[in-house]
Amino acid sequence: MTETALRYDILVSAGRGDPFDRHVFASALALAGGTGAAALPRALGLDRQGLIGVAATYFPQVLPLMEALPADAGSASDPGALEEDDLRRLLLDHRSRGVLAENWLATIIARRSLGPNHLWQDLGLTHRSELGRLMHRHFAALAACNVHDMKWKKFFYRQLCERDGVLICKAPNCTVCDDVHHCFAPEAGEPLNVLQQPVSRT
Ligand code: SF4
Repeated sequence: MTETALRYDILVSAGRGDPFDRHVFASALALAGGTGAAALPRALGLDRQGLIGVAATYFPQVLPLMEALPADAGSASDPGALEEDDLRRLLLDHRSRGVLAENWLATIIARRSLGPNHLWQDLGLTHRSELGRLMHRHFAALAACNVHDMKWKKFFYRQLCERDGVLICKAPNCTVCDDVHHCFAPEAGEPLNVLQQPVSRT
């Protein structure tokens, strides 16, 4: 099996399962696995067992690639990113259905939140709206708290700070805050996965 099996279009066309979830996982795998399957554990935060689970559920055609990963292909948190574990826990605490796919997504989102781009871009998604759809589907109670559509990474870290009782805001409310453009910009940009096609809503 060649590494082209991790191309978005090939993953989706030969995969199975819920179309939107398949699209989300294919997007992440394609972007993170651009240099090969060996890059996936570090890029997505999933260990070998987690990647086998994703493949078995959505992309059985790439199961051999995941099974060929070293048994100790791990998912250790980036030691310089203290908030990764906290964000994963926040997401896990707000799973909509408590299914395995949401465990994998919590791990992937926490790891990709360390990336330099908008989160939807670093997840390989086509548009920011897909991240909103993902959040409302799989982490509904948390997504419902983002009533003013704050940038997702800003929103997550603000939630973590509130949970820890840490005040990060310079102003009593957003309408009088100098940072409002940092927290509420549209997160526009180009998708990082050039081969993707948007999927219809289901
Ligand atoms: S705009 Fe200001 S007050 Fe509102 S969340 Fe951002 S930092 Fe806090």
